[in-house]
Amino acid sequence: MSAMTHTPMRARAEIDLAALRANVRAIRERVQPHSAQVMAVVKADAYGHGAEPCARAALGAGATWLGTATPHEALTLRAAGIEAPLMCWLWTPGGPWREAVEADVDVSVSGMWALREVTAAARQAGRPARVQLKADTGLGRNGCQPADWPELVQQALAAETEGTVRVTGLWSHFACADEPGHPSIAAQLSVFRDMVAYAEKEGVEPEVRHMANSPATLTLPEAHFDLVRTGIAMYGISPSPELGTPADFGLRPVMTLAASVALTKAVPARHGVSYGHHYITPRDTTLGLVPLGYADGIPRHASGRGPVLVGGKVRRAAGRIAMDQFVVDLDGDTVEPGAEAVLFGPGDRGEPTAEDWAEAAGTIAYEIVTRIGTRVPRVYV
Ligand code: PLP
Repeated sequence: MSAMTHTPMRARAEIDLAALRANVRAIRERVQPHSAQVMAVVKADAYGHGAEPCARAALGAGATWLGTATPHEALTLRAAGIEAPLMCWLWTPGGPWREAVEADVDVSVSGMWALREVTAAARQAGRPARVQLKADTGLGRNGCQPADWPELVQQALAAETEGTVRVTGLWSHFACADEPGHPSIAAQLSVFRDMVAYAEKEGVEPEVRHMANSPATLTLPEAHFDLVRTGIAMYGISPSPELGTPADFGLRPVMTLAASVALTKAVPARHGVSYGHHYITPRDTTLGLVPLGYADGIPRHASGRGPVLVGGKVRRAAGRIAMDQFVVDLDGDTVEPGAEAVLFGPGDRGEPTAEDWAEAAGTIAYEIVTRIGTRVPRVYV
């Protein structure tokens, strides 16, 4: 994107697919010593970046798997003609198991009800379901408890014998991988190794064993196993500011969010700005109107703090962020309507980053990019 250009669009999220490809290559290099494969996690519309283009770009750069949360997300990628190995992990009773089996989607199974539903679907489809058994090694969320693991493994093996299931993977997920040295990391790894060892001793022959999300991919080589599931790192964002910046890991942010200033106007001192008048102009000044609001995913919690590069300076959202717009104090600088307002990007033109918005809103950068709404067109560059 050219700096400070005028644009006919109200707002846009520019998606730098070259950066995404470079990030995938950087991740691949990191996991090469263990010959681990890379699963590109493209759930939630690729964290707001656009599932299909990001999936294709990631595969083009050497990712060999795709991962989604919901079956709908997985089936949408298949409907778009993407044939790469694809796994989805968030099932509810009555889900589209048969469609997933027929579309060759690996389904995650965390318990007996899911195994029963998937085997019934496989019978209807007339072919085995590709099933990845999920272990809860300590996250305390989805996954099979260690105490219930033997029964799940035995029933999955029985389904393999019957021809309704092929156990393709054994996997788990970390609770605190973004906190290096947290005691739960070693504990979860140990439980995972035990659960995998049990399943393999009983006869499971998985194609892949995996645990690592982005923080584990970046900081825990012993957690790479056969595959790493990377989301946020692929989008060029550090999993946590405490771990380092994206550049520390050779990553570059993929999304730039920019808008065209909709209006500029002179106002006198002591003028209340936006709902509730939480900002009062300290002097005669000019205000600029940024046509993005919380309906577009701009966090209202960042009112008074959210940073924007306008007219060569970073300014703060003055007063409340509204549904469709917010105001910046241009401090007497001359800025024309149509001038570019950059909310976040890689940061190398002086613009804020998604991490800056996360800090301003008291959240994580994952949430900032993922929530950018559908009203903001994605422009692929
Ligand atoms: N694996 C699972 C099961 C997930 O739910 C997620 C995302 O939350 C990921 C991997 C990717 O995590 P990250 O974005 O930290 O790489």
